[in-house]
Amino acid sequence: MFEGGYNYPALVLNADFRPLSYFPLSTWNWQDAVKAVFLDRVSVLSEYEREVHSPSFSMRLPSVIALRDFIPSARMPAFTRFNVFLRDCFTCQYCNSRRPAPELTFDHVIPRAKGGRTTWENVVTACGVCNLRKGSKLPKECHMFPRNAPRRPTSWELQDRGRGFPPNFLHESWRDFLYWDSELES
Ligand SMILES: [Zn+2]
Repeated sequence: MFEGGYNYPALVLNADFRPLSYFPLSTWNWQDAVKAVFLDRVSVLSEYEREVHSPSFSMRLPSVIALRDFIPSARMPAFTRFNVFLRDCFTCQYCNSRRPAPELTFDHVIPRAKGGRTTWENVVTACGVCNLRKGSKLPKECHMFPRNAPRRPTSWELQDRGRGFPPNFLHESWRDFLYWDSELES
């Protein structure tokens, strides 16, 4: 329909007007957003100036949409590398330094060699230096204890953590929906 449509992502909110996910931020490309509007699955809360035209219709591209039906978040967050980093706020649990994801590793608090398992309760985020230093020693053997005792987070906790990481792209019309509750805290 027109060039450059990829510059117009729509922020997708759940039926409670909160983003489906904060990190990564839930967005759809304009084609999916427009399709959902036509199927009446979403309501449009804000629009871009930009319009799309076809012989039979014209509309402004949606910049914020809300689902009509509420999608409950998964009760059990998936045990993935990404979610472990997010639980630990991308911060090494031994030296407390915050790093980009590619510089972070997994550490087994009780090493695998000593019977430790790969579970929420035994895996923490560690930087490369700390991971190497700890090696396959028990915490008490090297006096390295994770700052937060590892445990399984709830989906809500992960969502809440994700809010602390601003996305690369932030359209003016999204700000109210992303930050209305954090501004009240200050
Ligand atoms: Zn470290």
